[in-house]
Amino acid sequence: MMMTDEQEVRQATLRLLEEVDFEKVGGVAFRGEQYDRGLAFVHHPVGLGGLAASPALQGVIDELLANANIPPAFASNPIGVGMGAPTVMTYGSVDLQQRLLRPLFTGEEIWCQLFSEPGAGSDVASLATRAIRDGDEWILNGQKVWTTLAHVARWGMLVARSDPEAPKHRGLTYFVLDMRAVGVEVRPLRQITGEAEFNEVYLTDVRIPDTMRLGDIGRGWSVAITTLMNERASIGGVVMPRSSGAIAEAIGAFRTMGSPSSGLDQLMQLWCSTEALRLTSLRAAAQRQQGNPGPEGSVVKLANAELNQKIYEYCIDIQQDASLLYPDYTMRRPEFAGVHGDTSSRSMAQAFLRSRANTIEGGTSEVMRNILGERVLGLPGEPRSDKELPWSQIPR
Ligand SMILES: Cc1cc2nc3c(=O)[nH]c(=O)nc-3n(C[C@H](O)[C@H](O)[C@H](O)COP(=O)(O)OP(=O)(O)OC[C@H]3O[C@@H](n4cnc5c(N)ncnc54)[C@H](O)[C@@H]3O)c2cc1C
Repeated sequence: MMMTDEQEVRQATLRLLEEVDFEKVGGVAFRGEQYDRGLAFVHHPVGLGGLAASPALQGVIDELLANANIPPAFASNPIGVGMGAPTVMTYGSVDLQQRLLRPLFTGEEIWCQLFSEPGAGSDVASLATRAIRDGDEWILNGQKVWTTLAHVARWGMLVARSDPEAPKHRGLTYFVLDMRAVGVEVRPLRQITGEAEFNEVYLTDVRIPDTMRLGDIGRGWSVAITTLMNERASIGGVVMPRSSGAIAEAIGAFRTMGSPSSGLDQLMQLWCSTEALRLTSLRAAAQRQQGNPGPEGSVVKLANAELNQKIYEYCIDIQQDASLLYPDYTMRRPEFAGVHGDTSSRSMAQAFLRSRANTIEGGTSEVMRNILGERVLGLPGEPRSDKELPWSQIPR
């Protein structure tokens, strides 16, 4: 059944809330029902978590669920819901979509992203992990790094080099990796906050069936771009209610520690910037016609990262000596990761330290500015002397 009407989507969501008690059944079962009723990814086809409706109607569902205090699926599986689902939907076979999307949405199977390597971050297309075809399988060898949540992930989005003689963007192939496969080794990397949200992942003779490939052989870069565009949109694109999140913490800090002569002007400026960014995010979300976002995701990601850092700098400044104490530096392995860290138990000092990563994760601010310069403003591109060289001949 094709459902495009806002009223019908609204009623279906209200019925879900009426018939399924989140508190009683728990998050996994609730999200399972949401998926089965087509209210998970409303623009997906029927049977794959959607109703073949306009993507804009997802906002109606999400708002009703948020008003009922139902945590979003994104919170339980940020990389899966934000990046894995749109990539599988765009490039996966129907079999893969049927196998992967439901447990991804319910949070039963967590996802991670295996792109960055020790020698390939901003220039991820220069990556060196090798994929060699062996019959119906591929054999993978290499090392990934900064892999958020790899320690709890069941599936990883992985880009590897299948043809070293092709130019760097054209010799890549994209896979969904079973993180339990033989030869996958996950080692924690500890961050400035004391936590290890991310990891190194070593791949030694790991076998991946060809059925787990997304997109054509050698066309992995196009698939990766879909993932990255969705990453930027999902890192910066969550539209929070007015005066919530980091700015609410800043207002709280001012109420306990501040005085009109100590930071009120600055707080007002931060509030105005937050509100302007919130409205920009709303406009960007409304403009998004398709499931996959364009460069507007980079605008919001860039502005959000820099504003978040300024707000937590303000919070630390205003709390003076009190903020210098770091309460808990024991090694922790969070099961959730987001741009604000694990907000369930963190201190202001921890939020401040975690915010340093905002201008690096999901692409650095310098790289976001390059993208905006080239793709939005139409400025000349950076010189890319290695673009047409076979990857094997690029000095490393
Ligand atoms: C908290 C966190 C979580 C992460 N999670 C993941 C994950 O789950 N999966 C994953 O694959 N990766 C992840 N990353 C990695 C992240 O994507 C990379 O760190 C990022 O893309 C930058 O790459 P790099 O660290 O290699 O720095 P480099 O690319 O070496 O950059 C170093 C510096 O040079 C600048 N620079 C580089 N190229 C240019 C250019 N062309 N123009 C101007 N300046 C430039 C950069 O802005 C930066 O300041 C995570 C990173 C962080 C901090």
